[in-house]
Amino acid sequence: MHYYSLHKKSPSVSFKEAVVKGLAPDRGLYFPEHIEPLPKDFIQNLENYSEEEIAFKVIQQFVGNDIPKNELKKIIADTLSFEFPVVPIEDNIGTLELFHGPTMAFKDVGARFMARCLAHFYENSQEKVTVLVATSGDTGGAVANGFLGVEGVEVVILYPSGKVSTIQEKQLTTLGQNITALEVDGVFDDCQEMVKTAFLDQDIEPILTSANSINIARWLPQMFYFFFAYKQVYKKNKEIVFSVPSGNFGNICAGVMAQRLGLPIQHFIASTNSNDTISRYLENGKYLPNPSKATISNAMDVGNPSNFIRIQELFQNDLASLKKVFSSFAFNDTETIAAMRHIYTTRHYIADPHGAVGYLGCKAFQKTQPNSFYIFLETAHPVKFLPVVEDTLQTKLVIPEQIKAILPKEKKSIPISSYDELKTYLNTSSKVTLT
Ligand SMILES: *Cc1c(COP(=O)(O)O)cnc(C)c1O
Repeated sequence: MHYYSLHKKSPSVSFKEAVVKGLAPDRGLYFPEHIEPLPKDFIQNLENYSEEEIAFKVIQQFVGNDIPKNELKKIIADTLSFEFPVVPIEDNIGTLELFHGPTMAFKDVGARFMARCLAHFYENSQEKVTVLVATSGDTGGAVANGFLGVEGVEVVILYPSGKVSTIQEKQLTTLGQNITALEVDGVFDDCQEMVKTAFLDQDIEPILTSANSINIARWLPQMFYFFFAYKQVYKKNKEIVFSVPSGNFGNICAGVMAQRLGLPIQHFIASTNSNDTISRYLENGKYLPNPSKATISNAMDVGNPSNFIRIQELFQNDLASLKKVFSSFAFNDTETIAAMRHIYTTRHYIADPHGAVGYLGCKAFQKTQPNSFYIFLETAHPVKFLPVVEDTLQTKLVIPEQIKAILPKEKKSIPISSYDELKTYLNTSSKVTLT
């Protein structure tokens, strides 16, 4: 399988090269040259396949010969070592819980998959690679955890000081080993900007790669979720609608890819917080990104979603055909809080703010398609947003083991406030020891 750059000014590359580069030299996102639908009888008999078998069939064509089949199977088995249950919420609404992994957010799957691919590519190599990543919350923890102890890979995570939750911060600052956290005096966009500048900077010495959701090895495994969910509900004989809490739109774009592979999905709802660039675009055809606004669903505080361009590519940039299967609704914090309370009081289910936004998307679209079965993705465990959830629901959450283990650990981060400090760090990091 080859990947072309969406800016169309760089040559096509192999899976391996696309994973290692992250972004094409012309700054475009990589996109597969070909998408071959899966056999119908496979999809109609999903229940006869294990999660690992499904994942292998889904991703194999995208990896091609760059990873031997048996090695790919091992990578998948390692990546998927937890559950993906669809939990009923209302008669025609269920939630796909994607938070049973080590850092309790859906990004674990993409991060673990990517880490294992890179480990495979670099295991017998003299070279080292530095994964540089900016996080607004969950990416950092998932990447730190996924890459911890992976030989040949150094991980540098930039996060905005004071703008991530305590648990998120612990998850990315307490692991040590090959993981370094740089605490940026600024907002997420500043972190992202520094990362982008570093990738363009010829004077950076280490080989850099990105583990943000634009990397195909993080993006593509997210297709699995839609197959896993479908497997659990298709016997209902209803049309299936997915509502995906969206920030950078990587997860929902993977859902559209799953549909292209032949998964019968009736409709996609991109549910967002008040960062509503896409719902405004779908309404008036004008793409006018705003600076990101802070909300209680902070992992989706993205003003200019980087993966939306891939969705447009899947529809040949035709807004009308996109709108046939894709809607977007934006909800503010007041609505999100009301939804969390409603789900809790009526169904005794604790949704985190991102999941609650997904639920609201289902309710909004149910008015048009009342007979479908709706699945909203619960992208993070409520404990990751502990203060908001406990305040909103006036209840105490039970802290899961994964989180209990990191709470007493000491935070270690290096404060930085400018790009030059990042550069100095990267070029001297081999000589620096963190105390
Ligand atoms: C990252 C994240 C999202 C947004 O996913 P995208 O693929 O960027 O759209 C939603 N919810 C949570 C909890 C996240 O961590």
